[in-house]
Amino acid sequence: MNNIAQAIADIRSTLPAGVELVAVSKFHPAQAIADAYAAGQRAFGESRVQELCAKIEALPADDIRWHFIGHLQTNKVRQLIATRRIALIESVDSERLLSIIDAESERAGIVSRVLMQVHVAQEETKTGFSPDELLGYFANRRFESLKATHICGLMGMASNTDDAERINADFAAIAALRKRILEICPDLRGFDTLSMGMSGDYPMAIAHGATLVRVGTAIFGSRY
Ligand SMILES: *Cc1c(COP(=O)(O)O)cnc(C)c1O
Repeated sequence: MNNIAQAIADIRSTLPAGVELVAVSKFHPAQAIADAYAAGQRAFGESRVQELCAKIEALPADDIRWHFIGHLQTNKVRQLIATRRIALIESVDSERLLSIIDAESERAGIVSRVLMQVHVAQEETKTGFSPDELLGYFANRRFESLKATHICGLMGMASNTDDAERINADFAAIAALRKRILEICPDLRGFDTLSMGMSGDYPMAIAHGATLVRVGTAIFGSRY
């Protein structure tokens, strides 16, 4: 087994049933993705539209599930949707972006699956809705105006710190927010995905109910 296959096997052996592993392949060459694919990995996370489009071309296998996980510029939405290959846009961080995704999806005749990105971490640089913004969004049922977009859950990141208590508190806050949204909108269907946890903290995220973990470095090595 090569290093990538070994890393994937090691991580998989620790994941409870029902937790999906997204291999974050950003900045790594298509060959690294091909190695992971040969090891049975099917879900990959990318953070730049240009890079993702090039990789889709290099790796046309139609059972690859491409996840978009980076900040999505509104002027790149059309190009992303036009690939018709995106399984999940995990990083919807504004209502303006959401409405553009919806309009472009309707125009392309597809339904896009998305996650709302919530910001709970300490760093101001991270993007996403505040918990209060999301509670307002769902309390006012603004999702009802979407025509070609399905909101499948939440994505979030913990603070970038060694302080395990802080990381635990961040994951707990994201999980609690999902529960609260479902209390406000008990009729919400398919709001099941809780995407949280990266190489350094995914076991803690799983302990807080993550259903999807996004792991890059622990599979592909360092990005620089
Ligand atoms: C890069 C990235 C990851 C992967 O981080 P690692 O620490 O390399 O596992 C996960 N989620 C998002 C949103 C990212 O941008």
